[in-house]
Amino acid sequence: MAQYDTVLCARRLVTNGREEAGCVGVTDGRIAAVEPLGSGLDGRQVVELGDDVVLLPGLVDAHVHVNEPGRTEWEGFASATRAAAAGGVTTILDMPLNSIPPTVDVAALEVKRKSALGQCFVDVGFWGGAVPGNLGELTALHAAGVFGFKCFLVHSGVEEFPPLLPADLEDYLRVLRTVDGLLIVHAEDGDEIERAPSLHSGDYRDFLSSRPRAAENRAISRVIEAARATGGRAHVLHLSSSDALPLIAEARQDGVRITAETCPHYLTFAAEEIPGGATQFKCCPPIREADNREQLWRGLADGTIDCIVSDHSPCTPELKRLDLGDFAAAWGGISSLQIGLSDVWTEARRRGFSLVDVTRWMAERPAQLAGLRRKGRIEPGHDADFCIFAPDDGFVVDPTALFHRNPITPYAGRRLDGVVRSTWLRGQELTGHQPRGHLLTRGEA
Ligand SMILES: [Zn+2]
Repeated sequence: MAQYDTVLCARRLVTNGREEAGCVGVTDGRIAAVEPLGSGLDGRQVVELGDDVVLLPGLVDAHVHVNEPGRTEWEGFASATRAAAAGGVTTILDMPLNSIPPTVDVAALEVKRKSALGQCFVDVGFWGGAVPGNLGELTALHAAGVFGFKCFLVHSGVEEFPPLLPADLEDYLRVLRTVDGLLIVHAEDGDEIERAPSLHSGDYRDFLSSRPRAAENRAISRVIEAARATGGRAHVLHLSSSDALPLIAEARQDGVRITAETCPHYLTFAAEEIPGGATQFKCCPPIREADNREQLWRGLADGTIDCIVSDHSPCTPELKRLDLGDFAAAWGGISSLQIGLSDVWTEARRRGFSLVDVTRWMAERPAQLAGLRRKGRIEPGHDADFCIFAPDDGFVVDPTALFHRNPITPYAGRRLDGVVRSTWLRGQELTGHQPRGHLLTRGEA
């Protein structure tokens, strides 16, 4: 029998949409075999995992704002990827904005790649940007290896990344369709947001009224109609309004190529419980009411929502304006990259979901959506990326113990179930000392 570099044996292993006992043989950083426990796979290194852990594929977080270069004081490749590694995430895809320059042409992608090189503790791929005026850059940027293109339908928060007009969506989708490219959309409608009341206030209800569900619902309808008209592929980022679930489900039944993600914070927190002035909870679209949250869980259960990604979007403490407690003035973005798995598991298990479900939402589907063919599953031919997870262990979130750059998170002090014991990238356990992550190119990863 073949000798593998490493064999990991686990009483609990998530593979092939099931949890079972098994051994995984790894050679040259790839999974070469998955066999029942006791099948005697021979390895130079054999790791017998304890009964208290589950062997999961490394997670794929397709929505991370690294912000380097240009706003490295907000977050950077070294700190973000170290946080990812500590959280069981082995692949992140970096968003095209908040860094300067934004990733809207090939030259900007090269700038970003250069700054990431040699700094990454996990694998990193890049999204491109779709902004007014760069229609002619899309196919070249696609060929250069971005995983798809992000656009906004409302002000993005930074001047250098303007939104598309809804009327332009079809043009962008039509061009992307020629290369089977994916358009990922921040779906809030700028006109609806402009019409909504906007108050400088520390009351979360005022902030919530300024980003109504109607803004999301309208933008999502427009994305669906543009995808329907063009046959292009579109993905709704960070879905918060559960009102949009039937729209997405019906469009999909009609054959429209539309998918959706949501984030841990929408599945965990409730608007009713956010304290006055607690701007660490501010993100756009906003966290909504408890009944909305439960509908999002239903959307995950029935498959209308494909995946859960962090939308890790930090900034400096000053920009959160905790001194003022003014939701309108604070930067919108939540930091959760390192604790997403434990958080989602805590919330999922109390609603009767399994680690197989969590793995599908946080590893398998995000990899599929982005076209990462060797990520997100423990199956032969895939990269030997693993998360060794103790689901019945727990911890209390201490922001100063997290690796992301600025120690602010709404999860501070929260008790979570599940501890990441170790993370493996291409067959080797990550120690946090040596940045061995690769920069990924679409089609090659
Ligand atoms: Zn984002």
